[in-house]
Amino acid sequence: MKLLVTGGAGFIGSFLSEALISAGHSVVSLDDLSTGSDKNLINLTGKPGYTFVNGTMMDENLVRDLMADVDGVFHLGAALGVKRILERPYESLVTNMHGTEIVLKAAAAKKLRTFLASTSEIYGKNPIQPLTEESDRVLGSPLLVRWTYSEAKAIDESLIQIFHQTHGLPFVTGRFFNTVGPRQTGAYGMVLPGFVTQALAGKPLTVYGDGNQQRVFCHVSDAVDAVMRLFFNDKALGHAFNIGGETEVSIKELAELVIAETGSNSKIEMVSYKDAYPAGFAETMRRIPNTTKVREFTGWAPKYSLKAIIADVAAHLKA
Ligand code: UDP
Repeated sequence: MKLLVTGGAGFIGSFLSEALISAGHSVVSLDDLSTGSDKNLINLTGKPGYTFVNGTMMDENLVRDLMADVDGVFHLGAALGVKRILERPYESLVTNMHGTEIVLKAAAAKKLRTFLASTSEIYGKNPIQPLTEESDRVLGSPLLVRWTYSEAKAIDESLIQIFHQTHGLPFVTGRFFNTVGPRQTGAYGMVLPGFVTQALAGKPLTVYGDGNQQRVFCHVSDAVDAVMRLFFNDKALGHAFNIGGETEVSIKELAELVIAETGSNSKIEMVSYKDAYPAGFAETMRRIPNTTKVREFTGWAPKYSLKAIIADVAAHLKA
């Protein structure tokens, strides 16, 4: 198939593009290189069947033109990263709502099979864990900008469902939990590349809040494997799936593990949320995926342990 990947120069989008090319598909990758990077494309540039388009998904004509020539769409283009969203709230909200509307409208007009990248953020701070696809959304005040990412992505999910009903748009939605691995930058606040960079430099690892917030991390290769299995599976159409790892860890424990696994002399420095984030931040204390659905539909299971993930991120950052 010939497939459009929005956000194709991003962290997940670049690995997905590589997997699609390896599987024998052609890829048209659309990215405005705002948070994506051409460094992520080194394995792709010049590969037969790969085309990179430097442009924005906010450009309706461009998106429509690209859709005219493909058989399916992976919509990963988005503004993301808690810190970045807080720093650029309006731009992020518009990108994540209107940009997605443009992409989904064009896909619906052609009834193109579409993967929508959604997020565990849509569950907000629901205390009932692990989170299944049917779990409620529990959000804080709309005056806290942190929740706008969750709000925009939930609207995106509703929009794709509406186009499914009105236009017969075939879709599958993947809700990424904390996804990590090589090429991810700490620049937008993501914790693991930040910790590993700090550990390798012998600097203190900055643990925010009391460090008791819990997460589960999934290696990007495992996440991309899930996306591939879902997209090409007719049974998955019309469904949303959690995509996440297996090992629950507190952020304080994660910092200790990163120090141990990298053999670093770094110490841990506790930083208050007030000092860590711009205004509008709220914490999510626990976010644990239930991934039974994707496993049952596709036979998927993640392969990377948390230690293997840290080792891979460290190897990449050292290189
Ligand atoms: N965090 C931290 N130190 C950092 C960066 C992040 O303690 O240098 C915390 C952050 O407050 C959150 C968790 O690590 O509790 C995961 O943050 P990230 O931004 O990676 O993803 P989130 O799960 O918040 O979307």
